[in-house]
Amino acid sequence: MERIRSEPLALRDFLKRMPKGADLHSHLSGAVYAETHIRDAIADELCVDQGAKAFAKSQPVVAGAELQPVCEEDQVPATELPKNQRLYNDLVDSFSMRGFVPSAGVTAHDHFFDAFTKFGGTDPRHTGEWVDEVAARAASQNIQYLELMVTPTWRRLNTITRDMTWREDLKSLKDELMAKGLLGDIPAARAFLDEADALRRDRGHCGTPDETPACQVEARYIYQVFRNTPRESVLAQALFGFELASVDPRVAGINLVGSEDNYAAMADYADHMRIFQFARGLYPKVHVSMHAGELTLGLVSPEGLCCHVRQAVEIARTDRIGHGVDVMYEEDPEAQLKDMAAKQVLVEINLTSNKDVLGVSGRNHPFPIYRKFGVPVALSTDDEGIERIDLTHEYVRAVESYDLSYADLKQLARNSLEYSFLPGVSLWAGPDFARLVDACGSDVGGADKPSSACETLLKGSEKAEQQWELERRLGAFEAGF
Ligand SMILES: [Zn+2]
Repeated sequence: MERIRSEPLALRDFLKRMPKGADLHSHLSGAVYAETHIRDAIADELCVDQGAKAFAKSQPVVAGAELQPVCEEDQVPATELPKNQRLYNDLVDSFSMRGFVPSAGVTAHDHFFDAFTKFGGTDPRHTGEWVDEVAARAASQNIQYLELMVTPTWRRLNTITRDMTWREDLKSLKDELMAKGLLGDIPAARAFLDEADALRRDRGHCGTPDETPACQVEARYIYQVFRNTPRESVLAQALFGFELASVDPRVAGINLVGSEDNYAAMADYADHMRIFQFARGLYPKVHVSMHAGELTLGLVSPEGLCCHVRQAVEIARTDRIGHGVDVMYEEDPEAQLKDMAAKQVLVEINLTSNKDVLGVSGRNHPFPIYRKFGVPVALSTDDEGIERIDLTHEYVRAVESYDLSYADLKQLARNSLEYSFLPGVSLWAGPDFARLVDACGSDVGGADKPSSACETLLKGSEKAEQQWELERRLGAFEAGF
């Protein structure tokens, strides 16, 4: 790696093959590429709003014995896209950062977040196909585990809080939500995941002789709670997500998401932290990560940079932080960094996303500062489809921007599994990855078969099992040099 450090293409090839463990921060709909959203819209017979460069619902009209989708006057049927290259190109640009040039009234930040609405509207039954796409991409880059942020059915959540008013007493709000049947959609949410998993397995031919490499990628879901909704809705989503994660092992945790500089995100932030503190008290075993500190000077006022990361750690007691870009602008950053190191709160680092959305990169990004203070970090993609990148791209960027060594990269890969939300004990005796737990003794370094004591440990811990697999892969990769 030292020999090819300044050769981007050779470096990319090397890092693509390197075992990278997990991608812990990936929004499924943003991880899917625009081409897939367009294919799905064609299958769903949606319309395209030519002005907004966005999908629109078609109106079903009776034609003979059948219903036929009809588009409005200024719209064209998505089925015409394969023959309309110009509109196709425009949509790919509209759904991603490809070729984006800031213009009057549209910043990169807005273009990025608006993409979700523009490609939205396709049928949620495509979810399994999306998981297969993202898993296939992961497999091709020697990534073995994914935590994918999704939003299973929450139609009832949209209506359940409509005539509720916010009050400080979270317990009474919770009782009201429960009485209104908040948890009634849990079976529907689980059925949604069943359907997604079945479609993923079907598309990958998993369990058959034609099984694709995507099947070997372990995936878990993270339930997203949208912050830019009324507070009672944030509470309802959180309680729903915590319940879902506590009854369905495929849901590995909860994440608080959404543009952090929006009005509600800023004005209600402290209440959101109280909501998570409250929910964590009810469900102490459920893991939590949250988008915090995806801010920078200028995007919000200096006062707005006071304390989001700190409150996420101190009040919500989050296990991980997504982004954490503004940490050096917060009050007493040194104490904050030391606290995060002591509590081993991992920061999910999204370098390209931060450059695109916040304009923060290089020495203005706190990635090297987190490392200096011993705060655990891992590289992740955020929205690889919108950014039109992959995790390998982020490894290349990290090496080029921060002069990382191969040993540094190995630590990032190991962190991604050590701080994953997979259940079970760690394979490692400590977070410095110096030594394996006693049961696995000196088995380190890609031994083909674990000892019997170690095998027992691996059988009882999905996390340790994945960690063992990463060490095996690293051993095999390194043996090639
Ligand atoms: Zn994110």
